[in-house]
Amino acid sequence: LLEMNHIKKAFNGVQVIKDISLSVEKGEILAIIGPSGSGKSTLLRCATMLETIDDGEIQYLGRRAAWVEGGKPVFPKKEERKEIQSYFGLVFQNFNLFPHFSVMKNITDAPLKVQRRGKEEVFEEARRLLKKMGLEDKENAYPYQLSGGQQQRVSIARALMMHPNILFFDEPTSALDPELTGEILKVIKDLAAEHMTMVIVTHEMSFARKVADHIIFMDKGVIAEEGTPEDVFGSKNERIREFLGKLT
Ligand code: ATP
Ligand code: MG
Repeated sequence: LLEMNHIKKAFNGVQVIKDISLSVEKGEILAIIGPSGSGKSTLLRCATMLETIDDGEIQYLGRRAAWVEGGKPVFPKKEERKEIQSYFGLVFQNFNLFPHFSVMKNITDAPLKVQRRGKEEVFEEARRLLKKMGLEDKENAYPYQLSGGQQQRVSIARALMMHPNILFFDEPTSALDPELTGEILKVIKDLAAEHMTMVIVTHEMSFARKVADHIIFMDKGVIAEEGTPEDVFGSKNERIREFLGKLT
């Protein structure tokens, strides 16, 4: 579904992503772990076309999403770009809801305006999703009236409303208290049980171990180790041992 081939990215001459390649198959769950500053968010931002790449190529379903020509970063033209952008959803650490929109408007705005879907169908799906997320009584609330965990559930619902083929999460629980973290991890586990394809940057190691099919350990812009949870958590790699040791 997703292919990233030999991706490089520098900021102000500092190489933040150094020749990273990865692929994600339909139904697969990839967890990306690693120390602060290792380039995890940058990699997600490149994958989701929020950031240009300096080298390499990114494809969704065999269609080029980003590449480099004559040393210059290239995205597809408008229509093609929109089409490819509709393949993925992104959930941020800080929820990124529209503060002046109600919950309902937050999750229905893009399906109605961008996807031009029918009102009735969109609202019906929105209510079904809110119910599933335990937010059925919140459709008229505004983000500031919700807990962090509730806001994050709304932002997951907003992403799901677009019917993405793949969902990216960048540390979806790191802004939350421990008790709210659990509720978000539960939502992601439920999506995993429904075979949603996901790429999750997380510091929740036991969660990554349980839920991921494949884990990538990033260190200083490279994939320092990858494999099944057993491979990575059992790795003898000094940097991983150190990283995991610090967290436990
Ligand atoms: P964390 O776990 O703290 O979120 P991370 O692995 O997500 O870290 P990135 O946010 O990808 O790390 O940052 C990698 C490096 O790139 C850091 O040194 C950061 O300062 C730098 N960086 C990221 N974005 C930019 C930018 N827009 N401009 C300049 N430097 C940047
Ligand atoms: Mg980050």
